[in-house]
Amino acid sequence: MSRFDGLPIREELKSFEPYGAPQLDVPVLLNVNENPYPPSEETVADIAAAVTVAARGMNRYPDREFLDLRADLAAYLGRESGAQLVAEQVWAANGSNEVMLHILQAFGGPGRTALSFAPTYSMYPEYARDTNTAWVTGRRAEDFTLDESKALAAISRHRPSVVLLASPNNPTGTALPIQVVEALAARTAAIGAVLVVDEAYAEFRRTGTPSAVTLLPSYPNLAVARTMSKAFAMAGGRVGYLAASKELVDALRIVRLPYHLSAITQATARAALRHSDELLSRVEQLRVERDETVDWLRSQGLRAVDSDANFVLFGTFADRHAVWQSLLDDGVLIRETGPDGWLRVSIGTSAEMAAFRASLERVLKTDVGRLT
Ligand SMILES: *Cc1c(COP(=O)(O)O)cnc(C)c1O
Repeated sequence: MSRFDGLPIREELKSFEPYGAPQLDVPVLLNVNENPYPPSEETVADIAAAVTVAARGMNRYPDREFLDLRADLAAYLGRESGAQLVAEQVWAANGSNEVMLHILQAFGGPGRTALSFAPTYSMYPEYARDTNTAWVTGRRAEDFTLDESKALAAISRHRPSVVLLASPNNPTGTALPIQVVEALAARTAAIGAVLVVDEAYAEFRRTGTPSAVTLLPSYPNLAVARTMSKAFAMAGGRVGYLAASKELVDALRIVRLPYHLSAITQATARAALRHSDELLSRVEQLRVERDETVDWLRSQGLRAVDSDANFVLFGTFADRHAVWQSLLDDGVLIRETGPDGWLRVSIGTSAEMAAFRASLERVLKTDVGRLT
């Protein structure tokens, strides 16, 4: 018996639940790595005005190639990471999850393999599943770093057509040294594979860590995925993008659905980009709060992983689910993810982090907070 009885659902989908963290109505939301600061009224008004203009033309389909938005994103990457990009090197969709699905649709498929290094983002195997691409993982080290020679060996052994590399990684928070990214870009180029560096959290990286966009001129097989959902404080706008060679972007144009980026989304994203300084203005504060959170967790006798992102992985608990539930009972929602025993907390406002600390301090004094 299955809830899909009578429906011709694909065999491999039967046992799955839809992906997603619990969406609960509690006071302190620290579970999906959102920026806790909403846009200013001025930015809201500018977005609303842009949407009004777009609404007047809504009887027509939107600009299918959205080159204006792509040019704005190229300019933003130039400011943020020093990359020299033209609009044709940028691609966008409804979240970077859709951008990466386009990658698998174009470069994966039956008889092909996608490779990543665990623990990492739990959506990657879903893109592979949904495109009938075989899914294999290498391992990160105990401290969640990636051993370059082991990673290169995994690529040579599995001969993937797509390698997915999150840097900073989710859920561990660690960014990869640019030398390691470049070694993987070179090896994937040598076997004719695409390397995706998922930089969803790039804006939070510690200073001195270059973005993989600086490698784009040398590697036509490299795609660097970014999103407006995290640092950019636009999770509800659903805009993700990537930078790559024009040829790689051209391949993605073949698999996208026609008019996949609505006129409303394009107008919203362009207006938000005009206010990028303001929307990103809390990033520095969030980085400071993050580093303080790591220090505080360690001062409590916990393990906490150094982070280049806006979250921290910490533990390790004998019963992490019980700890997660106890925090939730105090109105603090964090994420039960990562290797066994670990939990992940997103960095919120100072007040939200104080609530998190107070709750966890309480739990650590009880039997529920037993460490391993
Ligand atoms: C949040 C996140 C994304 C971005 O998701 P969107 O679809 O752009 O909202 C991509 N990769 C990782 C690793 C993430 O954690």
